[in-house]
Amino acid sequence: MPDLIKVAKFGGTSMADLTAMKRCASIVSSDPDKKVIVVSATSGTTNLLTELCTEESVETRVEIVSQIKEKHLAICKQFGNPKTLLDEVTALLSELEAIASRKQIMTKMLRDEILSFGERLSSRIFSEVLKVDSGDDIQWLDARTVIKTDNHYGSAEPDIDEIGKASSEILQPLLKDARVVTQGFIGSDSKGTTTTLGRGGSDYSAALFAEAVDADVLEIWTDVTAIYTTDPRIAPDARPITEISFDEAAELSVFGAKVLHPATVVPAIRKNIRVYVGSSIHPEKPGTWIVRDTKEKPVIRAISLRRRQTLVKVHSLDMLHRYGFLAKLFQVLGDHKISVDLVTTSEVSVALTLDSDINNPGQPMLGEEVLEELQKFSEVEIIKDLSLVALVGNNLNQTAGLSGPIFGSLLDVNIHLICHGASSYNLCFLVAEEDAENVVQVLHKQFIK
Ligand code: ADP
Ligand code: ASP
Ligand code: MG
Repeated sequence: MPDLIKVAKFGGTSMADLTAMKRCASIVSSDPDKKVIVVSATSGTTNLLTELCTEESVETRVEIVSQIKEKHLAICKQFGNPKTLLDEVTALLSELEAIASRKQIMTKMLRDEILSFGERLSSRIFSEVLKVDSGDDIQWLDARTVIKTDNHYGSAEPDIDEIGKASSEILQPLLKDARVVTQGFIGSDSKGTTTTLGRGGSDYSAALFAEAVDADVLEIWTDVTAIYTTDPRIAPDARPITEISFDEAAELSVFGAKVLHPATVVPAIRKNIRVYVGSSIHPEKPGTWIVRDTKEKPVIRAISLRRRQTLVKVHSLDMLHRYGFLAKLFQVLGDHKISVDLVTTSEVSVALTLDSDINNPGQPMLGEEVLEELQKFSEVEIIKDLSLVALVGNNLNQTAGLSGPIFGSLLDVNIHLICHGASSYNLCFLVAEEDAENVVQVLHKQFIK
């Protein structure tokens, strides 16, 4: 039987320190089919780099770089400071320090360049750790030569054709005799400038690599043993899911389950690549398979929670018996590249939700300028600090008697908006941030058997 091709991705906690990296190395070494290894930055590093980008004072920026330096040099030291590795890591750290020390305007382009150092550092170190552990030929690849994207810095869109071409020219030849270690999260635009795919984007990178090399399996190794019926940090009685469909997994991640970047399943669906989610800490424990068709199709499979939601209510009496209001509203939002998640309308008002995660620069906030434009033809009310709770499963919009028990169990909770019907895979609603965890716990107890 010919070899399978597996792409394995290891997240931030899996790269946390030398012990964690060694655990990941042994997962790779024990399976010759794992040909492409995609890694995240060491845990906390992208957060530090993000902080650096928001910092005005050069002094503080340099102080942040020294924290990053300390962390990575400590791993190298523990690994015995092999000269070539130390040279590479020191050169990267000096480059980062030089950028951080310069007084310059923090553009989105520069921000992506700075964020890229996390993955560039971790992948250099992991590549050496894996070389020693496996004894195999391990090639380090700069992901920016393959993951070609547009120039929407902060949340760049991949160019699938260009990735395919670059993969045939650069990646595939390496795979003939070696395994490849590369970075998640980063890519480059047509001019070769560094881009990033958005926070948590390493899962997506791995899926793009899997698509490009026609992989049989994409493995996401993380700090939980599987995808759970809800975030185990919120509900201790959450259970691991054995098998889930691409569509359900997509909904779950779009609605906040951080375990998977929302776009991860898109390339997997295009090439029908099975995805496995497992724990790099306990690789022996059963994980989750994400597949096209599942044996079981429960109405409610899992519950997710997406924090930091903003509800925008746009009210206009002009809307009564008129047409064109919605078009006008969405034109303004579209012009400002504001992506709207959920929408409900009545005759004279529209309520919509926006993601307001400051860590996600791809999503602009509803700034003064947009607000002024909207206020020219409507009244705008903004409610912040909300969370979106989503029940994810199958045929939710065709199941009778569902909403009664759901909302019946939440009698004390103020529900700001409900979306039901558009998708057969979810039913979701907005609640105050402070109620959200309790709502998830109550619903999990009641509806997840
Ligand atoms: P990595 O660094 O490996 O990419 P992440 O922190 O991005 O890991 O994602 C793993 C985390 O996702 C878990 O620690 C868990 O708290 C969170 N999570 C949220 N929802 C779920 C869920 N339904 N199942 C499992 N984990 C979840
Ligand atoms: N390092 C990046 C982040 O923390 C990408 C990733 O880990 O998936 O967002
Ligand atoms: Mg992640």
